Amino acid sequence: MTKEYYQAHKKEVAEQQKLYHQTESYKISRKKTYAKYDNSEKGLAKRKRYFNSDKFKAVCKKHDDKRRQTEAWKIKSRAQHAVAYAVKMGSITKCPCLVCGDTKSFAHHHKGYDTANIFNIVWLCRKHHNEAHKVKL
Ligand SMILES: [Zn+2]
Ligand SMILES: [Zn+2]
Repeated sequence: MTKEYYQAHKKEVAEQQKLYHQTESYKISRKKTYAKYDNSEKGLAKRKRYFNSDKFKAVCKKHDDKRRQTEAWKIKSRAQHAVAYAVKMGSITKCPCLVCGDTKSFAHHHKGYDTANIFNIVWLCRKHHNEAHKVKL
C-alpha cells in the first residue's frame, strides 16, 4: 500500500481493518500466536526476568518522568513555586484554612494555574484542599 493510496482511502482502509479485526479467524490467529509464546517456559521466564530487570524499572521511571513533565504539570508546578517564593519573600502572607481555620494550610489556585491567576489563591488545609479539588472549585 502506498502512502498516497492510504491517504486517499484512509476511511476505507480503516474500515477494512476494523472488519478484519472483528473476524473470528483474526482473533484465533492472534490468540494462537500470543498463547504459544506466553505459555512457553521461555516466554514466562523472559517476562519474569523483564519485570525484575533494571530495564523495566527504568522504563517505568521514564513514563513517570514523562507524565511529570506534561504541560499541565509544568504550569501547575510553576504556579506553586511562584506562590511559595512570594510567601518566602513576604509579598504574600500565608493564611489559615479558609474553611476551618487550620494553620497547616496550602495555597489553592481556585481560578486555575495560568499566569493571570498565579497569585489568585485561597488557603486551605489538606482536607479542605482535597475537597476543593473533588468539587473543582
Ligand atoms: Zn480546613
Ligand atoms: Zn488546589
